[in-house]
Amino acid sequence: MLDINFILGLQPIQTLETASSSAGTSDCVVNSSKLLDSPPFNDLGALCDPGKSIDEICQLVNNLSVDEKFSLLFRHVAPPAVFPPTFSHGFQRRFNQSWLNKYPWLLYSPKLDGIFCGPCAILLPVLERKDKGMLVNRPFSNWIIISSILANHSSLHYHRNCLAMADTLKLSVENPSTRVDVMFSDSIQKKITENEHILRQIVRAILYLGKQGLPFRGNAEKVSLSSNPGNFLALLKFFAETDPVLSNHLYHPQAKNATYISPQSQNDIINVIGYDIILAGIVHEIKASKFFSVIADEVSSHGVEHLTICLRFVDDHCEIR
Ligand SMILES: [Zn+2]
Repeated sequence: MLDINFILGLQPIQTLETASSSAGTSDCVVNSSKLLDSPPFNDLGALCDPGKSIDEICQLVNNLSVDEKFSLLFRHVAPPAVFPPTFSHGFQRRFNQSWLNKYPWLLYSPKLDGIFCGPCAILLPVLERKDKGMLVNRPFSNWIIISSILANHSSLHYHRNCLAMADTLKLSVENPSTRVDVMFSDSIQKKITENEHILRQIVRAILYLGKQGLPFRGNAEKVSLSSNPGNFLALLKFFAETDPVLSNHLYHPQAKNATYISPQSQNDIINVIGYDIILAGIVHEIKASKFFSVIADEVSSHGVEHLTICLRFVDDHCEIR
């Protein structure tokens, strides 16, 4: 029996976000969302807390969803109006807002009074980040040497890669149509819609020929030939004259072993229509009717018995059918 779902039923792919979250559930032992929900809200310092081992931090960051990463990077808790002082080398020193202006990728953690490179701390792959310390896994708060540290970090290769990843993440969240998985999903949905249309046209041709009692087959059953390909293919070619989707399917099929116009496919569709739709419909109506009769007649021919059954019933409109 023809499996129509085969032509229509391409399963939607798992989204990247779902895939990443489901992949992470097997070895996730700490729920990073709860850390981000606890005060101070959306503070990277809650994840990259010095009290945690780097392995723990790597695991927590790796388990963040796309939305959580976006939120940490671009909706991070705002720095305070006045930064807390720290006594160092004989002076009271504090973080300066101008560093945030100069390096937009910096994130200040009020919880830790330290800074991180947001893209590196959130997006650097686990294998690359395990040997990283300040600005990535650990907060940086030595304000005396901050200028040279930030200038040096800006030039690092992995930092530039993370900046590019952050741009991509921002674009994909703010404009989901640019996401590869969404584009792929849209492409699959478009293909399913086209396949449904093609199958509908094939069924239309079969129903027409069946109602008119016309033969399906021809002598040269190829759509590419100019000779008579039989009524079924000729009717499809006629439909295709004003139907570019069907035309493309007939003359340039993407899968030559799944055109659904072969004699076998024709018979499969006829069986589906005959048994699953027409016969099932008649049986349903007869079961629902109060009065029906059965007439059976038998004839033998060449040693084979043929039994015909005629059913008559009174339908809901009191008409005899
Ligand atoms: Zn960085």
